Amino acid sequence: MKIGKYLREGKFSLSFEFFPPKTQEGEIELFETIKSLQPLSPTFVSVTYGAGGSTRERTRRVVEKIHRETKLTVMAHLTCIAHTKEELLDILQDYKRIGIENILALRGDIPLDTEPPHGACKHAVEMVRLIRENFADHFSIGVASYPEGHPESPNMEWEFKFFKLKVDAGADFSITQMFFDNRYYYEFLELCQRAGINVPIIPGIMPITNFRQIQKFAQMCGATIPQNLIAKLEPYEEKPEELLKVSVDFAIEQCLDLLENRVPGLHFYTLNRSKATLMVYEGIRSALVA
Ligand SMILES: Cc1cc2nc3c(=O)[nH]c(=O)nc-3n(C[C@H](O)[C@H](O)[C@H](O)COP(=O)(O)OP(=O)(O)OC[C@H]3O[C@@H](n4cnc5c(N)ncnc54)[C@H](O)[C@@H]3O)c2cc1C
Repeated sequence: MKIGKYLREGKFSLSFEFFPPKTQEGEIELFETIKSLQPLSPTFVSVTYGAGGSTRERTRRVVEKIHRETKLTVMAHLTCIAHTKEELLDILQDYKRIGIENILALRGDIPLDTEPPHGACKHAVEMVRLIRENFADHFSIGVASYPEGHPESPNMEWEFKFFKLKVDAGADFSITQMFFDNRYYYEFLELCQRAGINVPIIPGIMPITNFRQIQKFAQMCGATIPQNLIAKLEPYEEKPEELLKVSVDFAIEQCLDLLENRVPGLHFYTLNRSKATLMVYEGIRSALVA
């Protein structure tokens, strides 16, 4: 199933993101998580890729295993910054051979210690072009977007200019960086419309399960955690059960507001765990059916 086509038909998409575990125990746990999320009938699930190419084999293995052993549609993330174009084409050819039809085309964070290889795609847009030139419409292509701006973008004008290039190069849809204040997303959509960017933009939702970890992560990727959410979570920093409840309630409110505003889908960053996502799903289930 091609995600772009599905979304173009106006259907609502529910999706879950996983990362490829480092250990066998981690992989067993991941497939337990997948098993418990499968009854939610997600439109697709996705598997992340290490920017330095570090997870090349692991991502490939997890993608293939989900594709072969479950009925789920799986999208492979692929980052271009640490690969030559030939390597990217090999990876993509291999995905095509095993029947993968959806790719999230990303640049990845620029490694601090190594130079990109000669002739690498320096930005995601170049990989989108590479995929379209070599595989025509075999792959449905998703790209990343940043309602608060990518940390490297000096301003939102810059952000839109390059986001539009990715869409014009052939991206079918986009998934956003996590955000915790829907206003960023709505403003982003409005500006996209004005810029003539018409692809579906699926909001990325992160239910917070570890306050300290998320603060660091949010800072790195330029996502603001609103003061009112910080104030609600802070007292429970050392009480994971209570923290989970507060953060799930927040995510439910966030998702209900997004659903009311007719978003094309919801993409959950699961961190390979099902509990928080299942709790949020329970809280929004009736709105999903409506
Ligand atoms: C939904 C989602 C999933 C992700 N999955 C992964 C993953 O699996 N693995 C991983 O390592 N990372 C992942 N990331 C993080 C992502 O790789 C980083 O945010 C990375 O720094 C940028 O990737 P990009 O594809 O957005 O890059 P780009 O689209 O290339 O943009 C990066 C920056 O460069 C600017 N820019 C773009 N094109 C040009 C140009 N031609 N000239 C000058 N400037 C330009 C943009 O405005 C932006 O500031 C994900 C992010 C999201 C939102």
